[in-house]
Amino acid sequence: MNLSFTLLLVNVVVFVGASEDWCYTGCENSPSRWGDHYEHCNGNRQSPINIDTKQVINNKNLQDFNLANFTKKDTMKNLTNNGHTVKCELEPGIEVSGGGLNDDYSTLQFHFHWGEDDLEHFPGSEHSINGHRYPMEMHIVSLKKGLNPTEAKANSEGISVLGFFIDVKEEIETGMPEVWERFSEAIPASGANVALSLDISIQDLLLDVDLTKYYRYHGSLTTPGCNEAVVWTVFQQPIRISKDLILRFTQNAGFTDVYRPQQSLHDRTVYGSSNLGATTPPSEGHEWCYEGCDHALSHWGDISGASCKGENQSPINIDSHNATYKPSLGHFSFFGFSDSQTMDYLINNGHTVNAVLKNGKVEVAGGGLEEMYTTVQFHFHWGNSSQHGLSGEGQSHRSTGSSHAKSAESHETPSSGGGSGSGGSEHAMDSHVYPMEMHIVSMKKGLTAEQAQKDPTAYAVLGFFIEATDDNDQPGIWKNFTDHLQMIQNIGSTIDLHQDISLDALLGNVDRTKYYRYKGSLTTPSCNEAVIWTIFKEPIKVSKNLVEKFSTETGLNNVFRSVQPLHNRVVYTTEVSSNPPSSPTPSSSPTCLFSLVLILSSLCATLWINQRQ
Ligand SMILES: [Zn+2]
Ligand SMILES: [Zn+2]
Ligand SMILES: [Zn+2]
Repeated sequence: MNLSFTLLLVNVVVFVGASEDWCYTGCENSPSRWGDHYEHCNGNRQSPINIDTKQVINNKNLQDFNLANFTKKDTMKNLTNNGHTVKCELEPGIEVSGGGLNDDYSTLQFHFHWGEDDLEHFPGSEHSINGHRYPMEMHIVSLKKGLNPTEAKANSEGISVLGFFIDVKEEIETGMPEVWERFSEAIPASGANVALSLDISIQDLLLDVDLTKYYRYHGSLTTPGCNEAVVWTVFQQPIRISKDLILRFTQNAGFTDVYRPQQSLHDRTVYGSSNLGATTPPSEGHEWCYEGCDHALSHWGDISGASCKGENQSPINIDSHNATYKPSLGHFSFFGFSDSQTMDYLINNGHTVNAVLKNGKVEVAGGGLEEMYTTVQFHFHWGNSSQHGLSGEGQSHRSTGSSHAKSAESHETPSSGGGSGSGGSEHAMDSHVYPMEMHIVSMKKGLTAEQAQKDPTAYAVLGFFIEATDDNDQPGIWKNFTDHLQMIQNIGSTIDLHQDISLDALLGNVDRTKYYRYKGSLTTPSCNEAVIWTIFKEPIKVSKNLVEKFSTETGLNNVFRSVQPLHNRVVYTTEVSSNPPSSPTPSSSPTCLFSLVLILSSLCATLWINQRQ
């Protein structure tokens, strides 16, 4: 009792200051005045900040953390309500290292920041991602080993804070998950302190957050004296709990809006962890676009370090009559495709709409692939809705003011052979283009980002054509999915994919045993020639009005690359008779003849190619 009182006193004095000294709202010394009394609060390395994911630099040294005793139960000693926050003090022996930290840190406490009951309009997280703030934020505070609190605050890396966003999980019942129900039940009234005896570990509270995906920057304590001594780790994925448990903080603690307003980044850099980088294809850091910037489509070849002028580029026109039958192109094994909880969030990255999957939940093997591939994301390529003749709204697209957005007027007819200047798919099938194409991107399992740069089979991309149908809002799952697009109208914005959507549901009844195979490249800079391409014969059928949403909601138009020369590559197919998908199946004897002609012609093509080599 005496001991815990002493610890409490030390922490209050050292970290928070007496509650009369400062406040968030309703007193003289509110955040805009903190600098008058605590000089560090006016510094150039203050926290919290907004994290602009477009400016984040990937750092391969930001690897896994070593978290000692995070899984040990009953390490939470006291829960204190000090009038600024609710803080949980921990027993000694909990430690943080790794994760790109230069030292070992001893964990002292964790605490929370929150807003008001109206979580949507008054969120309480301190950090934000692309301007999006969450209802709450949890901070796990550790001191560099061997330093006392005063020494730690004077050291530029004296303190490590692990920051976790807390978000509402809509689809679960109230009081869930149970560990959070039990923990939040203990929230004391303002000024009170309760001893805890919970059979819960810190890790239990972190739920299934991917601890390998995080942002890193150097900043400060977010309460006075704002010492610039903190190595910040902000995890990308939120802890998601039921709304009623978040409301226990806003309603039971006796105060609301306990967060510091955001501070300027100044000349600091925010780094992304190694695993965070795996969600996007590697790039050389050049800003590129499809049209209207220095590195527009026709100048991708000039981007230094990129392969866009290579001999094995994608997309291509697939000439079905010249595709070579390859018996080893068997059935795929799709792991996690039927799981409706694999999708993490949707981002408008200024080039496309990208659905990022949860780490390691989805995998692809078989289908002639020699190894297992981990699916990281899927995205889309599309044209311009007005040019599909889908509606007359083409000229009224919301202007993003961005160099990425292309106008219909300046659109150059792609050399894809579509003939009409319409289209949107990247690949063409017998010179026919579709209004949209979906790419499911997987990386060879276990490959680091660095290895992926050198491995010619680092990526497996599954390409699906999307055909627009005349009905409305079909299929229902696509209505559901595309409803998210209105939430990501700004470049860089994200929306959680909370709803139950599986890849299987999106792919519908497309026959996934019929496909083409060739070796090519990423279709965006740096155009790495490291992709095993699979293009499925049958398109996914989606209502025109939903296809149209991709351009009307995001303001992005004509986000596709035109077809590239095949050079001496071979396109393989799963079928002996590679009829164009639109051809009706001829009856018995013509089929044989037709197949024979195809076999002969593909044989000729093969021989001809072999002669050339
Ligand atoms: Zn904090
Ligand atoms: Zn350049
Ligand atoms: Zn793509």
